[in-house]
Amino acid sequence: KNEEDAAHAAASLADAGAPTIFDKIIRKEIPSTVVYEDEKVLAFRDINPQAPVHIVLIPKVRDGLTQLSKADERHKDILGHLLCMTAVIAKQEGIEDGYRVVINNGPSACQSVYHLHLHIIGGRQLKWPPG
Ligand code: C5P
Repeated sequence: KNEEDAAHAAASLADAGAPTIFDKIIRKEIPSTVVYEDEKVLAFRDINPQAPVHIVLIPKVRDGLTQLSKADERHKDILGHLLCMTAVIAKQEGIEDGYRVVINNGPSACQSVYHLHLHIIGGRQLKWPPG
């Protein structure tokens, strides 16, 4: 419940334009282990990995995309690019045999950072359904 309240607060702040921790990662103000970067996206290792390979992939410009449910026409290019690069990164990480791509959307889905991001998870046998 506390985490859910914190997530609601984080969502409101981000929707009002406040930066998130990912802005600091993008600007390299806090360290991260970058595994892929181009002009549009950044991928780094999750600091709290849920599997041997756990990468967070984000757009460098948030452009209102605090969470997937805010997506509209103007985000089509970046959303496509994120998915295409997911495949490239998974191959680079050697997990192309099997991996999971997760977008937690909103407090009920345990989204904690309100800057759209994809989790790329693999390197072990994954279970279904997820928790
Ligand atoms: O989907 P959710 O919003 O919960 O995902 C945020 C992810 O960002 C978490 O898995 C968290 O471990 C990760 N994170 C990170 N480095 C930070 C802050 C958060 O890898 N400095």
